[in-house]
Amino acid sequence: MRRCFYNRKKLDQHFLKDKNIAEKIVKNLSFQNYNTVVEIGPGLGILTNYLLNVCSRVFLIEIDEELIFFLKKNFSISNHQIIHKDFLKWNPEEIKLKNFALIGNFPYSISSQILFHILKYNQYIPECIGMFQKEVAERIISHEGKKTYGILSVLVQTFYDVKYLFTVKKHVFFPVPNVQSGVIILKRKEKKIEICNKDLLFKCVKMAFNQRRKILKNSLEFFIKKIPDFYNLPFLNKRAEQLSVREFLQLTNEIEIRK
Ligand code: SAH
Repeated sequence: MRRCFYNRKKLDQHFLKDKNIAEKIVKNLSFQNYNTVVEIGPGLGILTNYLLNVCSRVFLIEIDEELIFFLKKNFSISNHQIIHKDFLKWNPEEIKLKNFALIGNFPYSISSQILFHILKYNQYIPECIGMFQKEVAERIISHEGKKTYGILSVLVQTFYDVKYLFTVKKHVFFPVPNVQSGVIILKRKEKKIEICNKDLLFKCVKMAFNQRRKILKNSLEFFIKKIPDFYNLPFLNKRAEQLSVREFLQLTNEIEIRK
């Protein structure tokens, strides 16, 4: 019994009780350019219920086997649509999914990792609606010059237009979490992004923000010291938090072409 409770806590299980909020989240799906929706961590299925009403092709990815049994018993959805897996280990190519939206009240302790996983497969994911811990949602939508601006803001906004939808209070969950929640929507930028090297962008942004008080000339020393005319790179006298998403892209592209 004790072990069971411990595992539940570890899996970040805070179930939404308010059906109106569940409906409001699902209603934000646009179905523009996709007809398949994948839900991360369906839990007891409060979102799933509405999802099945509006979408004919739904897949559920849930890590907890007990909940998998519950979902199979309570929803008319075929076995191959309920995937018992850790989302962070899921590759959409396994089931030949090439174009789908993601939705979920995400397990908060792995929300950054979920976002990185989405960015890894962004070519397949035109839209994502997710509930995050409010502070994380605020970081994702933040802009340069703000305290909350960081790695997640730059990397997510390189590939997606982001919008904060609404705040969700703690008491609508059981068990009640310690934090407020925020629902956001990501819509993939359809204009082609001129990015030379995605890995380099990720590395630069992480390195720059890991020493956010230093100017880029110092925080990015590892990358730029090998470049002969590195002093011609733009923005070297600025700090990470002063650079816009577009400027980060510009800087990384300049590093890439000089390498
Ligand atoms: N969507 C439900 C449950 C939210 S709680 C609701 O709104 O009520 C988070 C859910 O994510 C739980 O069902 C938990 O078991 C599941 N989960 C946690 N980590 C996961 C992971 N790595 N991959 C898939 N599901 C996960």
